[in-house]
Amino acid sequence: DSNPLKYKRVLLKLSGEALMGPGQFGIDIPTCEKFAHAIKAAQDSGSEICLVIGGGNIFRGVAGAAKGMERAQADSMGMLATIMNALAMQSVLESIGVPTRVQSAIRMESICEPYIRRRAQRHMEKGRVVIFAAGIGNPFFTTDTGAALRAIEMNCDALLKGTQVDGVYTADPKIDANATRYDEVGYQELLAKDLRVMDPSAVSLMRDNNIPIVVFSLKEEGSLLKVLHGKGTSTTIT
Ligand code: UDP
Repeated sequence: DSNPLKYKRVLLKLSGEALMGPGQFGIDIPTCEKFAHAIKAAQDSGSEICLVIGGGNIFRGVAGAAKGMERAQADSMGMLATIMNALAMQSVLESIGVPTRVQSAIRMESICEPYIRRRAQRHMEKGRVVIFAAGIGNPFFTTDTGAALRAIEMNCDALLKGTQVDGVYTADPKIDANATRYDEVGYQELLAKDLRVMDPSAVSLMRDNNIPIVVFSLKEEGSLLKVLHGKGTSTTIT
């Protein structure tokens, strides 16, 4: 192949907010369709993809706790939000002919499969997009950590973190005009400088298991495919 894949098996992490599109809340189906087409193109190019989607477009545990809810209870609601997002993406992916399975860390047998590592691996080998819902199934964690854990368990070649910006910057580019983008940055430097592109616990899990994290922009058309081929603008955390 004259155009080989840099990463064959990947986990794509989307925040819940990515699904809002132009809205302020909830799920924008045209936006989900855009992601679904990008995922289909990536799959057609020979990569195996699994997904973790956050829940921040619907509910965040910390926000509930700030308003007086018990944190663990609020986090359960956050995890339920991620299941809603997973079902929406499943529906949209299947509407364009991409076979999918949703596996939830919280058992919910009548609407999706429970998380079973070896079964998820088998789905991926068969060319199904596996969507991991409910994070790791425990309160006080985030879907970033869930994404890191599942990427490791699925033996992924990389964790792809789709964001609103095209990589990791030395400072927030919206605030500091002199901020520059890293092409590559070490896990340790990222943690030491507290460059918060992903939860520190997720970054340290990836560091301990030596799997790169690629931060790239979801706004740019075709960016996912480029990242898979080691092209385009992004930051690789290694
Ligand atoms: N959550 C949790 N345990 C997990 C994953 C998520 O308790 O393993 C809850 C937590 O309340 C979190 C919410 O689910 O705020 C939504 O996930 P997250 O904030 O990671 O979503 P994102 O920021 O990616 O949209």
